[in-house]
Amino acid sequence: MTDRFGRIIDQLRISVTDRCNLRCRYCMPASGVKLLRNTDILSFEEILDVARAAVGMGITKIRLTGGEPLVRRGVVHLVEKLASIDGLVDLAMTTNGTLLAEHARSVADAGLQRVNISLDTTDPHLYRQMTRCGDIRAVLAGIRAAQAARLHPIKLNCVVGGLLAGSDALSVKEFGRTNGLQVRIIRMMHFERGVFSVVEGGRGGDCRRCNRLRLSSDGSIRPCLFSDVFLSVRRLGPSKSIRLAVAKKPQAGGPCAHQWMYRIGG
Ligand code: SF4
Repeated sequence: MTDRFGRIIDQLRISVTDRCNLRCRYCMPASGVKLLRNTDILSFEEILDVARAAVGMGITKIRLTGGEPLVRRGVVHLVEKLASIDGLVDLAMTTNGTLLAEHARSVADAGLQRVNISLDTTDPHLYRQMTRCGDIRAVLAGIRAAQAARLHPIKLNCVVGGLLAGSDALSVKEFGRTNGLQVRIIRMMHFERGVFSVVEGGRGGDCRRCNRLRLSSDGSIRPCLFSDVFLSVRRLGPSKSIRLAVAKKPQAGGPCAHQWMYRIGG
């Protein structure tokens, strides 16, 4: 699919849940989160309907996100079904890594090809402070399990800003270098002000080359992270909502209503 600015739209990011086992300060409010009802979250069958329609229209890359995708029960089954879709070339996941030690082998065997793992610091105390409850040892065990399961490449998503100083990013870069992992630096975003930047080491935030659509866990197709446009796949059906999303994709992101990342998966 090509949008009206000549960009090839070939990636769909699918948030499979708004739930997460961490409470990262830049993602979840201190006051806790109002989670969606189960009936508001797309079923696997609904997600597969959207994915099949999207691949039929030119999407070749799918990335599973959350919340934390590995907390969704049966996600391995979804990976297997997605991996069997003809025309899907690349199947990836963005995860906080804390459950990878348990699931890396099974998602790899089911057809997952690669992972991005969130790691904003190598300092165990700051990690717990940033995630409000996380243990960095679980992420490190997850990285080892992903390597053992031959998921490749493994990239580290490192957020910079707020409590996270540049020095933390440097320590993550060094950790990545010594462990053969690519590191992407993501600067804090501000939706209402439309403030975001190009991901260092990635494509995110580069509107001129933007190739993606997003499906949120409650069934909204979003043409752009920094836009208030979203289309309901339950109301419009997968094909029509995807077609309209491409038609309505803005040339660049701008100020928009605040988005909780745990709902749309970044
Ligand atoms: S702000 Fe919107 S157009 Fe720009 S890179 Fe992000 S999703 Fe794409």
